[in-house]
Amino acid sequence: MSIKDYFSSLFKGAWSLVQGMQVTGKELVTPKITKQYPENRKHLDIPERFRATLKFNYDSEGNHKCIACGLCQMNCPNGTIHIESKMVETADGKKRKKLVKYMYDLGSCTFCQLCVTSCASHAIEFTNDFEQAVFTRDKLVKQLNYLPEKEEPVAPKPAVQPTTETK
Ligand code: SF4
Ligand code: SF4
Repeated sequence: MSIKDYFSSLFKGAWSLVQGMQVTGKELVTPKITKQYPENRKHLDIPERFRATLKFNYDSEGNHKCIACGLCQMNCPNGTIHIESKMVETADGKKRKKLVKYMYDLGSCTFCQLCVTSCASHAIEFTNDFEQAVFTRDKLVKQLNYLPEKEEPVAPKPAVQPTTETK
């Protein structure tokens, strides 16, 4: 190797080192975006539309809107939802389905949201509550209608006509 080649490669090596240090220096002054979880739990910024787990929509009186039609169960591609229902008689004497149990297995859900989009009653939605870690898989199976189901109002019985005794 000639002296010229020696100094040329030395200069290239030094220049490459300077370029590398430029990148390092830039990252040194760039604001940090790494989040220290769980230390930052109080200041977490989870996107609103993040799909963490399915939940029932309850109103202020604890009523949900599920009519046990079973469409979400039918549209779920991997059997994540299991619905139990029963037939009840309404106050006007008609028969209708009533939800008994709505079981959702978070462990097999793919968060495709087909169930939510197929529910015409807007009874279910995804929440962004992402802290769902548990120690056993069976704890991922949740009953979404966790509040006690309300009884149907009983149909009023026809008034008994007083019998008039004739002597
Ligand atoms: S959640 Fe919606 S689609 Fe599913 S059973 Fe209830 S009403 Fe039907
Ligand atoms: S998000 Fe998809 S996989 Fe999960 S319960 Fe709904 S339909 Fe099934």
